[in-house]
Amino acid sequence: MVVVMKPDATRADVEAIVEKVEAAGGQAFVSRGVHRVIIGLVGDIEEYAALNLQAMAGVSRVTQISSGFKLVSREQHQERSVVQVGSVSIGPDTVTLIAGPCAVETPEQTMESARMAQRAGAKLLRGGAFKPRTSPYAFQGLGRRGLEILADVRAETGLPIVTEVVGAQDVTMVAEYADVLQVGTRNMQNFPLLQAVGTAGKPVLLKRGMNATIEEWLMAAEYIAKCGNLDIILCERGIRTFETATRNTLDISAVPVVQRLSHLPVIVDPSHSGGRRDLVLPLTRAAIVAGADGVIVDVHPRPEEALCDGPQALVAEDLHQLGRAIEDLTAYMGRTTVDRWHRRAG
Ligand code: PEP
Ligand code: MN
Repeated sequence: MVVVMKPDATRADVEAIVEKVEAAGGQAFVSRGVHRVIIGLVGDIEEYAALNLQAMAGVSRVTQISSGFKLVSREQHQERSVVQVGSVSIGPDTVTLIAGPCAVETPEQTMESARMAQRAGAKLLRGGAFKPRTSPYAFQGLGRRGLEILADVRAETGLPIVTEVVGAQDVTMVAEYADVLQVGTRNMQNFPLLQAVGTAGKPVLLKRGMNATIEEWLMAAEYIAKCGNLDIILCERGIRTFETATRNTLDISAVPVVQRLSHLPVIVDPSHSGGRRDLVLPLTRAAIVAGADGVIVDVHPRPEEALCDGPQALVAEDLHQLGRAIEDLTAYMGRTTVDRWHRRAG
């Protein structure tokens, strides 16, 4: 059962519902989004019916749902959500470019990548300090030193940081530096990690597991939402199929399918899905026209020296074309690449 609060519901209205549910022996999970609060109820549905929550102050509606995801479901929340990262709004009116190196390697490489990203129109900087590598012998990332480099580059460029956290034990430390916590494909069903990022007080970028169905992906998002955090950006990054020409197969259908099932923003990673530089532009075009709320791409000043994923990194010459395509197709879709703060200022 889910209680959707009115946009003007007060904290006291929410608390009154939680108290009533708990007094009846049930559990209430409060999730706060930018526009409204949703309360997921676990317990005896018949008991809840008797509580007549519908009549309480601040309640928009109470609905019974039985699927494995409720708080992230669009059934209860028709309006598509906006996730706010500083002045950057990620949601249905915008197309947000997130760009940066796959891995933070050196201060210079990170700064050069950030400048490349910014010139292409990126609003957020990506870069991994903790890398979940398939081989234990591959570069695992610089750890805390990498986070410090990212923070320095943010101070210099003003770009908020998206960075991956690989283990639940590191969430508090990564959250001290990150503006958005990334959960990678290999960790989509790492439930302790999902719960840890759900309480870290930062927006989360949740990548789809390469072997996960859309329903499993949304249930993973539900773990985060159930901990009180509705600031979740979903990222389609390709799934495993029989095809070997690409690293993974970008499931472009996932964009409209998920947007119908969930109110959360959905972005696409054309770099990790294709795994090839030459595919990033066409897959970006496809993503935007399919309705994606943004794209996250790898860039590197010298991909031949990259410690991770060089073959898919865009170089300076590619970025001009990518930036142009994003601008043109964003306008074609009736959206904007300009964030709220700039719109107000302009
Ligand atoms: C990444 O974005 O750096 C990454 C490791 O991606 P994925 O989890 O999609 O493989
Ligand atoms: Mn990578």
